[in-house]
Amino acid sequence: MNASALVSELRALVGERGVVVDPDALMTYNADGCVMDTHAPDVVVLPTTTEQIVAVVKLAAKHGIPLLARGAGTGLSGGATPVRGGIVLVTSRMEKVLEIDRRNNRARVQPGIINFELTAILKAQGYHFAADPSSQKACTVGGNIANNSGGPHCIKYGITGSHVLGVQMVLADGSIFWTNDGTPELPGYDLTGITVGSEGTFCVMTECWIKILPLPEATRVVMALFTDILPAAETVSQVIAGGFLPAALEVMDGGALKAVNDAYKMGIPPEADAALIIEVDGVEDGLDDLLAEIIAIAKEKGAIEVRPAKTPEEQVKVWAARKNAFGAMGRLAPTYHLVDTVVPRTKLPAIMRDVKRIAKETGLSIVNVFHAGDGNLHPIVLFDRTNADQSERAHRAVEEVMRLSLEYGGVISGEHGIGIEKQEFMSQLFTEADLAAMAAVHRALDPDDLFNPGKMFPRKFEANDLASERRRVAEAGAGLPALMAKHGDKLWV
Ligand SMILES: Cc1cc2nc3c(=O)[nH]c(=O)nc-3n(C[C@H](O)[C@H](O)[C@H](O)COP(=O)(O)OP(=O)(O)OC[C@H]3O[C@@H](n4cnc5c(N)ncnc54)[C@H](O)[C@@H]3O)c2cc1C
Repeated sequence: MNASALVSELRALVGERGVVVDPDALMTYNADGCVMDTHAPDVVVLPTTTEQIVAVVKLAAKHGIPLLARGAGTGLSGGATPVRGGIVLVTSRMEKVLEIDRRNNRARVQPGIINFELTAILKAQGYHFAADPSSQKACTVGGNIANNSGGPHCIKYGITGSHVLGVQMVLADGSIFWTNDGTPELPGYDLTGITVGSEGTFCVMTECWIKILPLPEATRVVMALFTDILPAAETVSQVIAGGFLPAALEVMDGGALKAVNDAYKMGIPPEADAALIIEVDGVEDGLDDLLAEIIAIAKEKGAIEVRPAKTPEEQVKVWAARKNAFGAMGRLAPTYHLVDTVVPRTKLPAIMRDVKRIAKETGLSIVNVFHAGDGNLHPIVLFDRTNADQSERAHRAVEEVMRLSLEYGGVISGEHGIGIEKQEFMSQLFTEADLAAMAAVHRALDPDDLFNPGKMFPRKFEANDLASERRRVAEAGAGLPALMAKHGDKLWV
């Protein structure tokens, strides 16, 4: 099918205003927040209904055109980068709250709703959606589910996957399918579970049932300042070891603190080189005592100042500074690569030492802002991507952090997903048999590799080829290890 025929058909399906073809406008969709690899789509569509999505999916499938579902494009792993061109389907015009069912603590929403807008709507009714990525003012619930996103409050409330009850999706044949009708604890295969974190690789989500929780009765926020990041990281481990469960434990190192202080005029003293934001929530009674015990640990570890946010407005200000910290990085360098890995919390001080060493060895500044309570670190490598040498050193720094995180018993993503950024690291985290099992699920749902191809699985094989190989193995009656032994690496090339 030639390009102009495709565009005409798409315009007939979603209307003139729902199709973008201007080359300059297409550049907006050539990457998400991970700009190390970019690739513009051939065309962008902005549907307003599930029926339109079905029609677009059927058209793409009929002509073998890759199709990528995109929310706000704030992802940081290249998940929404259309590496093979084709159609990018943007959900921003599907942004309604369809139902709030308070008796069952759940809501049904369209995938393009902005997380923060959903939060505001729920807050007015005394509820919240617990998954709150720092990007919540821009990112969509569909993107949150597809990436299984985390956020500052996940230490207590869990990541997005803990708050999704069911998903309506459009599959490659155009069929519409609910993984669950919003009933908690449904027996049978957990098909919602495999959709969470699937990064748009086998469907387009069109509606979602999410859990909503009553707002806590009271909340306290304090910022503890330290002269170094290590005691801040040690405080986190000690707080958890003490049996406390704060609502958030977020660390910023000196570089991040300086950028945030310059942007938000927080009056941070020059000797402060790290901050730990501590939030506790729950019933009013006893909350101050709980906070006092946590503050005592911070002081014991060397906190030089503890600043309570005395009013709800001050709490909002502290969180605004933290959640906009990545934006403040623009003051420090033209580009940054934000690494997202997890280590056991006890290894946080060790990996922070490593990050300092890597910065020295690569000659690049690396600042840290992270969800310390989850052991989810975010070293932010600052560089200029127009400078080839700096880009190469930045790549090296990123790879070293990933390698070390695995060595410490961690994983390569806490919340940003795999996308293209980490696909080569998948075979270090999973065995070939693990990946082949995932590929078999992928093949069952997306047999022609229509949705977001070239993602998540290591580049050396196509997901569906891997699944076919697995099936041949099974049909031959040999175990995968036996076939591996026979064919060696060839199986995976
Ligand atoms: C400043 C900043 C701070 C951030 N902080 C956090 C944080 O605290 N925690 C965190 O987890 N992440 C964070 N992120 C990363 C990012 O915001 C999240 O991953 C977010 O969930 C992505 O949502 P999105 O709508 O932008 O999705 P996109 O970037 O548009 O897409 C992400 C993935 O979801 C898929 N997808 C989107 N919609 C659909 C759909 N309807 N059906 C099927 N697949 C779909 C896409 O194909 C892609 O693979 C941050 C990013 C920035 C820029």
